[in-house]
Amino acid sequence: MIRVFTADNRALAWHIKNILQSNSIEAEVRNDTLHSAQGGIPLNECNPEVWVVREADEQQALQLIDENSGIDLESAPPPWKCGSCGEQNLGQFDICWNCQAAYN
Ligand SMILES: [Zn+2]
Repeated sequence: MIRVFTADNRALAWHIKNILQSNSIEAEVRNDTLHSAQGGIPLNECNPEVWVVREADEQQALQLIDENSGIDLESAPPPWKCGSCGEQNLGQFDICWNCQAAYN
């Protein structure tokens, strides 16, 4: 297992994971639920992380992340709430990270 990405929020972490998996890279999100459970932890210790299962996938994963995580918050569209599952999604993605429903 290798950590390839640390996200500012869980929506981004899950989007990255979905991108990797759609490219046949096995990935996991860690630290996804620590926020609410352990309020006293410094922020950088509970940011959600994306890990790839096979070390051989690391380089391809980093490249995919580089291509897809260039988040420009200034110009990005506003976040939207999934009409199917209710999760919050980042504006630059048009598919729900949680249930893959399309934005509408
Ligand atoms: Zn959803």
